[in-house]
Amino acid sequence: MAGSSQDQSTRHPQDDPLSSPVQFLKGVGPLRAQLLEKLNIRTAQDLLFHIPVSIDDYSELCTVPELEAGTEQAVYGEVVDRDVRHLRGGRTLTGVLLNCDGHFVRGVWFNQPWMLKRFKEGDRLIFRGKPAHRSGRWEFNNPSVSPLHDDEEPDQSAGILPRYPLTEGIRMEGMRKMTRSAAMALADQLLDPLPAFLRERLELPDLPSAVRALHAPADRDEWEAGRRRVLLQDLLEFQLGLALRRRMTRQLTAPRIEVSARVNARIRRLFPFRLTAGQESAIQDLIGDLNSEQPMHRLLQADVGAGKTAVAAYALLAAIAADCQAVLMAPTEVLAGQHWETLDELLAGSRVQRGLLLGGMPAARRRETLQQIADGSMQLIIGTQALIQDSVEFHRLGVVVIDEQHRFGVRQRSRFSTGGFSPHVLVMTATPIPRSLCLTQFGDLDVSQIRDLPPGRQKVITARISNAAEEQKVWAFVEQQVAAGRQAYVVCPRVEGQSENDNASAEQLFAQLRRGPLQQLRLDLLHGQMEREQRHTVMDRFRSGDTDVLVSTTVIEVGVNVPNATIMVIQQAERFGIAQLHQLRGRICRGSHQGFCFLLSESETPEAVKRLTALTETTDGFELAELDAELRGPGDILGLRQSGAMPLRYADPIRDLELLKQSRVIAQQLIENGEFDSSDCSDLRAVVLLRFSRLFDLPQTG
Ligand code: ADP
Ligand code: MG
Repeated sequence: MAGSSQDQSTRHPQDDPLSSPVQFLKGVGPLRAQLLEKLNIRTAQDLLFHIPVSIDDYSELCTVPELEAGTEQAVYGEVVDRDVRHLRGGRTLTGVLLNCDGHFVRGVWFNQPWMLKRFKEGDRLIFRGKPAHRSGRWEFNNPSVSPLHDDEEPDQSAGILPRYPLTEGIRMEGMRKMTRSAAMALADQLLDPLPAFLRERLELPDLPSAVRALHAPADRDEWEAGRRRVLLQDLLEFQLGLALRRRMTRQLTAPRIEVSARVNARIRRLFPFRLTAGQESAIQDLIGDLNSEQPMHRLLQADVGAGKTAVAAYALLAAIAADCQAVLMAPTEVLAGQHWETLDELLAGSRVQRGLLLGGMPAARRRETLQQIADGSMQLIIGTQALIQDSVEFHRLGVVVIDEQHRFGVRQRSRFSTGGFSPHVLVMTATPIPRSLCLTQFGDLDVSQIRDLPPGRQKVITARISNAAEEQKVWAFVEQQVAAGRQAYVVCPRVEGQSENDNASAEQLFAQLRRGPLQQLRLDLLHGQMEREQRHTVMDRFRSGDTDVLVSTTVIEVGVNVPNATIMVIQQAERFGIAQLHQLRGRICRGSHQGFCFLLSESETPEAVKRLTALTETTDGFELAELDAELRGPGDILGLRQSGAMPLRYADPIRDLELLKQSRVIAQQLIENGEFDSSDCSDLRAVVLLRFSRLFDLPQTG
């Protein structure tokens, strides 16, 4: 969508006021332009697409004498008092008193004591809701609250004003003036890539009108329609990119891999356990996919410890049995090494030729391995991203398994395809992905889930530890467990300290524990700033039981497998997200011993308490993922947008789920009924390809 300065490469910048630097716009100037850059606003066009998060409807604003009981209204005033009352049954009532032009109005909230901290005296607020008159005073029960910025003077005549994300140094009023004036001056210049027939069908305003409505709405409906149009376009372009990719991959062929009863039995005999129902059904899905010339594109979602490796092994061995090569790619060398050990053990006594390909291999070994891969003598290759470098040539590649998919994009996946040929691809992730995200990020994948765990698996017992006395007990517990033969991880948010005795720092905590509470134990330190060799040595020592306690950063997050490690102590746990804590905790449910996880956190913010409490209450990763999405609200789920893996510009797959579903249907229709290839859609095609051909490896011409 026309939203970022890079997309303007097709036009000449001099002719195009939209792509000129934002500083030249009226009311901006070099100083503000610098601040706007923090919001990724560089060109005039970027400013036009700075999307308001909501609107303030000042036309609803009342003076206190105008209030009517039970009607939706809003008042504006300054906070003069706040209190929390403790009621019977442990309930609380929080009150905030506003002075509204000499009249007092109270806002009240039941059981939300943290509301007290959200406001302070002198804050200027708007309460919205249905007021009631109680004991001679107006009261809003559970009102919605908009804080006012320093320079805002609300009055009814202001009408409807958009609210924007801001950055330090730019105030709401200033932002409003800039966007409004830019929209008035420039919105007409925007090319609308959506053809008229589609706009009519979907009842969407054209792009210039939509952008004007965003920044200078006449009423709420107009603003909402404008916003819907811009978000829908963002989603639609993305879904069209995905649909094109699907169309393209449908033209690729993969070797048909039929799993005979004999092969099936031979593979199963290798596993030292009975497969769980979840593993079985994932394998059935696989068998169906492999038995086709359509390349498989399947996502296997299963919580840590659910046994994804066995499913992966099944796919790899099925390919090898059909005389194809098979590849397993992991995101880190540690993980690749672990997969190697697991599979090497599984295949002990088999004739399968197997090898490891890592980035840091000696040149001669690497050359030899590449040769064996190219001539097909190596049947099973395990490695890291080193596998998708140009120098690697495969020989009749049948199956690729990619572990921990969220670190790899669609593009990496397609690196295994060449000249109309593609292997079957299975991607695996332990990060439970909310359904809505599956539709976007993984929109071109079929999904299998494993929801059960192997039998006898103990659920990790998790506790939140919020004071020093309890913390001492934790260290005593660690000593006791080590005496019983177990090992422990201590995880810190940072490597280096920012102050003395900074227990968020792995280095400092390591030193402290060694001098203090854990001086009797064998401690070691692991973090990402250490040399690779040294890291491997530390991990090996821990794995072989030569170390009792490993103090580390989150380098141990993904996949590390030491079944004897059953305790995890996480420092300043509030600094981690739910997903990350869940991943970390997954490190200690690998064996048959009971695991214990201690979340150390003194933070009392409601958000932190809620997150940490959730972890103490459930170990179901899918449940936690949904809660995580809910708590974070619209925003950056799993850090995808930040990592560049989230290809949406304005829309949010969770907040805008309904639009997302709509856009998916529209995109599929447009592609399937041929409309997308018609001349009416030529602008839209150009925009989609410009935006997604690299990310999705689409051909440059549609
Ligand atoms: P993940 O899904 O996290 O990759 P793994 O494949 O590493 O999980 O499996 C975790 C542990 O569970 C391994 O030690 C593996 O041997 C064991 N395991 C896997 N499947 C089963 C099963 N069906 N029954 C018993 N143990 C199993
Ligand atoms: Mg795994």
